Amino acid sequence: MTNEILGIAASSGIAIAKAFRLENPKLIVEKTTVLNMNQEVERFEQALETSKIELEGIKEHAFKELGEDKAAIFAAHLLVLSDPELINPIKEKIKGEQVNAEFALDEVANMFINMFEAMENEYMKERAADIRDVTKRILSHLLGVTIPNPSMIAEEVIIIAEDLTPSDTAQLNRQYVKGFTTDIGGRTSHSAIMARSMEIPAVVGTKTVTNDIENGAFVILDGLDGKVIVNPSDGVIKEYEAKKAAYEAQKVEWAKLVNERTVTKDGYHVELAANIGTPEDIKGVLENGGEGVGLYRTEFLYMGRTQLPTEEEQFDAYKAVVEQMEGKPVVVRTLDIGGDKELPYLDLPKEMNPFLGFRAIRLCLEMQDMFRTQLRALLKASVYGNLKIMFPMIATLNEFRQAKSILIEEKEKLQAEGIAVSEKIEVGMMVEIPSSAVMADVFAKEVDFFSIGTNDLIQYTMAADRMNERVSYLYQPYNPAILRLVKMVIDAAHKEGKWVGMCGEMAGDEIAIPILLGLGLDEFSMSASSILKARSQLLNLSKAEMNTVIEQVLNMKTAEEVERFIKEIEVEKVLNLNKSSFTR
Ligand code: PEP
Ligand code: MG
Repeated sequence: MTNEILGIAASSGIAIAKAFRLENPKLIVEKTTVLNMNQEVERFEQALETSKIELEGIKEHAFKELGEDKAAIFAAHLLVLSDPELINPIKEKIKGEQVNAEFALDEVANMFINMFEAMENEYMKERAADIRDVTKRILSHLLGVTIPNPSMIAEEVIIIAEDLTPSDTAQLNRQYVKGFTTDIGGRTSHSAIMARSMEIPAVVGTKTVTNDIENGAFVILDGLDGKVIVNPSDGVIKEYEAKKAAYEAQKVEWAKLVNERTVTKDGYHVELAANIGTPEDIKGVLENGGEGVGLYRTEFLYMGRTQLPTEEEQFDAYKAVVEQMEGKPVVVRTLDIGGDKELPYLDLPKEMNPFLGFRAIRLCLEMQDMFRTQLRALLKASVYGNLKIMFPMIATLNEFRQAKSILIEEKEKLQAEGIAVSEKIEVGMMVEIPSSAVMADVFAKEVDFFSIGTNDLIQYTMAADRMNERVSYLYQPYNPAILRLVKMVIDAAHKEGKWVGMCGEMAGDEIAIPILLGLGLDEFSMSASSILKARSQLLNLSKAEMNTVIEQVLNMKTAEEVERFIKEIEVEKVLNLNKSSFTR
């Protein structure tokens, strides 16, 4: 029976394919007595061999698709798999205690995991994580249970999952994964943001897809309107094929603007930049005509692996980004871990409110070795292009000052070592906590630029968790409360002669764009896939016209009123456009 499920449109586009349920099965281990111990050891060896072949395949695939650092995770797993210190005691236990392989593996592996986890040494803690992963894989073979691996999907599918972590998302193979839909999450959760940069259509926050969609069911995913249709009729399939074709045609039109500057009808230039997560994303930025990188989320470099990236690895990534951008500005944000972005190997205690907790700059100012390593890598990369640095989650002036002084210390150390560092690095901050928006006039005297992070600014101003679909109605970028805060930040910066960007999702929102133009935003940074659409909109807007209505907008009472008003202006513009082409 056809079923239509509504959710949040998280990444544009339409996909039509079979459902692939991505769920982690439960691995239940029971103790049994075995009579033929040699046969049981053989069964264990067989599971080891199958796991090895599987891991080699994954490693090779990861190397080709995702690069060396991601592949290194699986190389570490292969080492665990052949480590006699782990494997021999398991065999001895099977033989000595006449127990089944599952039980022996579970017991011995847990003993090592507990032992390594209790150690202070970071390297040992990481080994515990590796052993846990490998044990899961061997167990799944012993129990005959399949662990789904998103990177190994080899037919066209739409992924159905309760949630996808950012590292799950990073492993999706774009060739086959045509879209995904989840029960939880919002438009600004990081898997949604990554879907946009990977140009994979996505509908999140449906609450029920895992309940309503069977593996293999035929599914239409509408990432434009936030709908998932299960078992559609032929008529509905035709309708969506037409909608998909129209969207593709629209994209072809936008693509013609790739080399244009973003200048409004009345000659006002704004910069359209892209948000990226990895150096590989630069390709999409250039293909979509990005005029810079407004936000490089460096945390992805730290994720999907078992230990911190070294200074060298980081340097290579930052250098690759600035070099490929050939002198265009690249704003790199220092590590913003926490919230929905976890680093299991840091082994931080679970928190009641991770979005309000020990994260981002708070964590970096305390774990200074880690922070200084990143800053050194950034400083070294600065000579290869136009690199700017910004700090995330700044709540107080003291945090900004401390972060900046650590940066200066590292710069001086490098210079004393004779290592070249650019003298022109601008140092700015994200404005994503209401306290810093309110105090923007004070910050503006000390920063080189601001970048407004509306994903968090909205969540903190409205007190609405950005991951919780139940309160997603409070994600209101057009709420006058948000618009007034944005105005405060822009005005404060301009008064000090500083520039202001926006790297939250609001910057690419078609209702918000005319308002932000009127407010004087200098740089709009968004998913690369949104740039050409935004450019086509801005080319038809007039800065002077938006200036004349901005006071009126700021004095409106609700988000809905603002939205209605902007839509009316847009409709009028289209009508006028048609009228003039008609009379010409
Ligand atoms: C933001 O908060 O708006 C932002 C750009 O940062 P992130 O989405 O990574 O938290
Ligand atoms: Mg943020």
